[in-house]
Order: sequence, then structure tokens, then C-alpha cells
Amino acid sequence: MPTLFKKLLLVSFLTFLAFNLFAANSAVLIMYHRFGDDRYPSTNIRLDQFDAQLAWLKKGGYHVLPVPEIVDRLQSGESLPDKTVGIIIDDGFETVYTNAWPRLQKAGYPFTLFLATDPIGSTDMMTWPQVKELAKSNLVTIGAHTATHPYLERLSPADAQADIARGKQKIIQELGITPTLFAYPYGEYDTQVVDIVKKLGFKAAFAQVSGAIGPQSNFFLLQRFPLNENYGQMDRFKLILQSKSLPIGDLSPADPIVNNNNPPTIRFTVLNKSLNLKTMNCYATGTVAPLKLNLLGNQQVEIVPVKKFALGRTHVNCTLPAQGGGYYWNGMLYIVNP
Ligand SMILES: [Zn+2]
Repeated sequence: MPTLFKKLLLVSFLTFLAFNLFAANSAVLIMYHRFGDDRYPSTNIRLDQFDAQLAWLKKGGYHVLPVPEIVDRLQSGESLPDKTVGIIIDDGFETVYTNAWPRLQKAGYPFTLFLATDPIGSTDMMTWPQVKELAKSNLVTIGAHTATHPYLERLSPADAQADIARGKQKIIQELGITPTLFAYPYGEYDTQVVDIVKKLGFKAAFAQVSGAIGPQSNFFLLQRFPLNENYGQMDRFKLILQSKSLPIGDLSPADPIVNNNNPPTIRFTVLNKSLNLKTMNCYATGTVAPLKLNLLGNQQVEIVPVKKFALGRTHVNCTLPAQGGGYYWNGMLYIVNP
């Protein structure tokens, strides 16, 4: 065998080995709204925080991939590089153009921008020419986020469908791009809204709950870690980047609206059979008293909240320490509507 051929064979074998040793089936999506606009700390990231986060993504060897590529590869069963991260920005505020875009461009990091179309061009928002400039770049993908940014689950199904369809149509009309990804405004939905999003031909949709995504994720309720000033500390950022997908099935109740069922008894099955659930911890955000966690066997979990959930959104997070640091992490949303 010629030496060169042997060398090539060895190199490809080592590449194959390295890829399989370090390949992962998990990705972490991080999401932002405003940049350097300290009037709104709950939807803003300070620029010093954002700069530190981008620097850490570089320094830590993270692979920032386009979100549609991450979704495609997970859906088709292809593996992803270890340390895969996707960047998402919702709404299209002006500071995306003035503050985020120059930084992301300089870093060479792709991102997906979910646009609610009616507000574009109004105060504090990007203009359509600015959106067009971004959409032309190969770093940016545009996703749909309705026309008027409503609480979709509070609308009639017909109105919800019309709003989502109009937002999608406007993006097609202005940009000549058919968006394939959708994000629920405020991260709120119910099972009817999810069905409408599927019916309108989207490939995947994004909630606004903590957790990593993987091949067994629900692709119409994909998790993203929202980052803002209050949750922008580096320790937390480094921790969430280490998260691994904790896939669940048979979630009950499936509908997040729990007005008539408060507090809900939550049940699900962890699909990763190799995880030892004895180390799992579940907690709720807000003023909810501690949750009772029952392991029912066969990777089935039951969570019994001791008190009613408060008005608005309650997030229930379940985490399980992962080997090598970080957590298997699954966030779930419950809503008590006014
Ligand atoms: Zn939004």
C-alpha cells in the first residue's frame, strides 16, 4: 500500500474517531431581545455582558451554528459537534441593528431573528431597510413571530391562525424569504396554537423555557435560554452552555393553561433510559412552594406542587447533574391566564 494512501487512511480514521468521541446530540439555544437598552432590564442585555458572553463562546471553543442547521441536523438524526450553540433574537428592536449586529458580524456568529411584522418601522424597532440589510447577510436567518405579537392562546383559533399567517406573508412579501421557523410571542401557546403552527407549514417552533435540545425534543416546543440583565451573569451563562438535552414524552397535562386545573399534577416519562432519575431535582419559578417529586418507575416522573400556581407564567425546571459538569435540563411552562 502506498505510504501516502496509508497516511490518508490513518488521518480519516482519526478524524472519524475524534468526531464520534466528541460529537454530541445536544445543542444549547440562547435568546435575546434588546442590547444596551437599560430601560428594560428584563428584556435587555447590557453591552458589557454581551461582549463577555461572545468572548466566552470563542474562548470556550463553542461551535455557534445557524439555528436552522441545528434543527435540520437534529431532525434528520445527524450528530452535532460537541459544544453546539445557537443564537436567537426575538422581535427586531432597533438595538439589534445598532448594537448586536456589529458585534455578531465581527465575531462571525450566525443568528436567527424572529420578527413580529406589524411593529417593524415603529419607535425603538428596526426599519424594513435595516431588516433587509441583515437578511441579505449569510449570517442571518429570519423566522416568523406573528404580525401583532399577541398572546396567541387568548385568541380564537381562527384569529390566532390569521395573525400567524399574516406575519409569515409579510416576511415573504418584504424579504422574498419563506420563514420555516416560528417563535411563540411571550413563549406562550396552547395545544391548539401548536397545531395551527404545524398546519401553516413551519418546520419547528420555539418556546421560551430553559433547557437544551436534542433529537428527541418536541420540535414544536423547542427550548431556549432567555438571557437578560438579571440572568446575564457569567457564572450562569457558563453553566447553561454546559446543559444537555433531557428529552421527555407523555407530558401531562399537555396543555400549559391550568386555570381549571391549578395546581396541576405533572407527569412525564424521561426518554433517555440511561439516566438515573434519583439525582433529579425539580423546582418552580416564582412564589410556588416546593414541589413534591415522585419517581413512578420505568423513568416515569410525577410532580405534585404543594400550592396553586400564581397568575401568569410559572416555569417548572427539572435538572439532573451530567458527567463532566452541567445538567441535563428540561424546562416546562404553565400559564394561569387572567
Ligand atoms: Zn417576542
